[in-house]
Amino acid sequence: METVKTLILGGGPAGFTAAIYAARANLSPVVYEGIQPGGQLTTTTVVENFPGFPGGVDANTLMDSMRQQAAGFGADVRRGTATAVDLGTRPFHVTIDGETEILAQTLIIATGAQARYLGLPSEEKFKGAGVSACATCDGFFYRKRTVAVVGGGDTACEEALYLAGLAKKVYMIVRRDVFRASKIMQDKVFKTDNIEVLWNCNTQEVLGDAMGVTGARLLRKDGTVFDIAIDGFFLAIGHTPASALFAPWLELDDNGYILTQGKSAQTSVPGVFAAGDVQDPRYRQAVTAAASGCMAARDAEKFLLENNI
Ligand code: NDP
Repeated sequence: METVKTLILGGGPAGFTAAIYAARANLSPVVYEGIQPGGQLTTTTVVENFPGFPGGVDANTLMDSMRQQAAGFGADVRRGTATAVDLGTRPFHVTIDGETEILAQTLIIATGAQARYLGLPSEEKFKGAGVSACATCDGFFYRKRTVAVVGGGDTACEEALYLAGLAKKVYMIVRRDVFRASKIMQDKVFKTDNIEVLWNCNTQEVLGDAMGVTGARLLRKDGTVFDIAIDGFFLAIGHTPASALFAPWLELDDNGYILTQGKSAQTSVPGVFAAGDVQDPRYRQAVTAAASGCMAARDAEKFLLENNI
């Protein structure tokens, strides 16, 4: 069975940054990209907030560059998804796609998170054409336009406030008659003139034409169906971290995010590190994921040194 010093699961900004640092530290990392090569970032088009690209950069190009940079330093980048893990003893036992068995002296988990969507066919149809799950990524395209944000949690409020600074008008579509968000975020929303909260509403359909989103059809709890005219439809109904496989072994928070210790990437199992969105319910940016990937690789390097491996 193959034994590696550092195994990295995940091919997003966190995984590849970890791979760049681990490769340059002579850890000969093996990286497995999962079912979405390049990670969640590749679901957007242009990335305008990654430092170093004043004109923006195509998301796929950015991820290809990170992959190439990692491979250039000797990282072994492969396709495959971890289907089983045993983190009970070191080296850790990882199974890829149900067949390839690998023993890893250190493991970096950078499997990311998936934004939740409502599951409407019309929502799927307009993904990338007005439907987005990331206001920080795509909000800029809606300057002086009208948008809607679905959700009533802290993220929805934060995204609505961010969008309110750019857009002419922001609707918040909230399924109950109360927010789930913290009081301070609610107050900020209520104090913002160009945010209108539509309480007790669920989206029946995202409306659009060949150019993209033009509106949304909503159903209020009292049975009323009505349309709103919008140019962008933002989902903020939570994320699901890809951590289920590790749940029997690692400490997770109540929402399934892997817990790391202090200012480190160390999980509750020594030698297992987590980076990127799988451990970050808060910032969820490519640049913060990349930074935590660097931390994970540095932590893995230190662990191997201290354990004479
Ligand atoms: P939450 O789970 O807190 O909120 C999700 C929201 O989406 C809820 O209002 C929920 O409604 C709504 N929702 C869920 N499913 C649907 C659906 N199918 N249709 C319509 N609405 C739906 O997720 P967040 O991403 O907002 O926050 C995650 C965590 O991160 C929280 O702990 C939050 O506090 C934290 N956070 C903190 C921030 C800060 O401190 N500034 C910023 C961002 C996040 P309902 O309430 O009815 O269930």
